[in-house]
Amino acid sequence: MPHTGRHFLQIPGPTNTPLPVLAAIAKPTIDHRGPEFQALARGVLADIGGVFGTAEPVVIYPASGTGAWEAALVNTLSPGDRVLMFETGWFATLWERLARRLGLEPELLEGDWRGGVQAARLEERLRADKGHEIRAVAVVHNETSTGATSDIAAVRAAIDAAGHPALLLVDTISSLASVDYRHDEWGVDVTVAGSQKGLMLPPGLSFNAVSEKARAASRTARMPRAFWDWEEIIAANANGFFPYTPATNMIQGLRVALDLLAEAGMDEVFARHKRAAAATRAAVAHWGLETQCAVESEHSPALTAVRLPDGHSADALRAEILERSNMSLGNGLGKLADRVFRIGHLGDFNDIAVTGVIAGVEAGLAARDIPHEPGGVEAALRSMAGNA
Ligand SMILES: *Cc1c(COP(=O)(O)O)cnc(C)c1O
Repeated sequence: MPHTGRHFLQIPGPTNTPLPVLAAIAKPTIDHRGPEFQALARGVLADIGGVFGTAEPVVIYPASGTGAWEAALVNTLSPGDRVLMFETGWFATLWERLARRLGLEPELLEGDWRGGVQAARLEERLRADKGHEIRAVAVVHNETSTGATSDIAAVRAAIDAAGHPALLLVDTISSLASVDYRHDEWGVDVTVAGSQKGLMLPPGLSFNAVSEKARAASRTARMPRAFWDWEEIIAANANGFFPYTPATNMIQGLRVALDLLAEAGMDEVFARHKRAAAATRAAVAHWGLETQCAVESEHSPALTAVRLPDGHSADALRAEILERSNMSLGNGLGKLADRVFRIGHLGDFNDIAVTGVIAGVEAGLAARDIPHEPGGVEAALRSMAGNA
């Protein structure tokens, strides 16, 4: 049977793109060196910092988030530099691998993939680094493989308590515009972000918000860089242009996405994500299943990773749900492959969409004979009513 109705794209990125954003992207391509683009870029560059909580420059790349990971490292560091990281999950290990391939010396503090960054352990390691050989601390704000959000203010406080000069680099690819985030207030030096998650755009843009301290470090950093170099881009941005062809249509979409976020108000956007996350967890608890994140204060507002009982395949469940309900859910990554499935509740959605997602998951659990207590939708509705 062919599917009817809309596809439910409930992976934790890419997310659903609102129609006004798609319409803006579909407008005719414009001259990237002409006055129309210049006005567009000036406006976007003036407004984008608000989403990061920064008055510092935000560099926009025509790249996926991985490119912005690389940009953060090559602009600030030199070959062989030590980078302290924390194994929150799959994305932390990918960033570590990228750093190693670039010729840096990352050190990944071991984690169990069930919670966020343990700031006390970072502090202990930084205190032991008397010679200040560690040049940067690089952590993931929202670990998309596990559904755990880290306390970045606590990471900042740990670096300060150790009296350590390391730069703080933070991956917000799956949290920006979904989870409260404050680049300036938390003293972050480079914030890495992408377009296709909380910002509600298709994949294709990524970002570095950069502090004055990070820019100062970039003046002496010796990693080879050309495409990713901040200063050339920041200099051209001052006039509303880019040194190479920017993704003009995506920036047209970004304009509308920023307007939609401003219209909703960021506090309401964050509250909507928290409400969806709490409702999803209420359903999971009602089913008698377990979330991958085991730390109550660190559950992600943007996604929920659900563990299946031993002997049940998460991938078979996802395939069942795709076939039955035309809904895509996220797969388990790395060592969680086939063990968990991930429900994305970030970007463009509303309360009733969340209940639809939960209904689809429950139908899949029943079809696959996975032991669960029926009634997840009611549990979610009760949770949402309590958080309205
Ligand atoms: C999606 C994601 C990435 C990877 O971004 P790409 O756009 O796929 O390169 C990195 N980190 C986190 C936390 C993510 O969620």
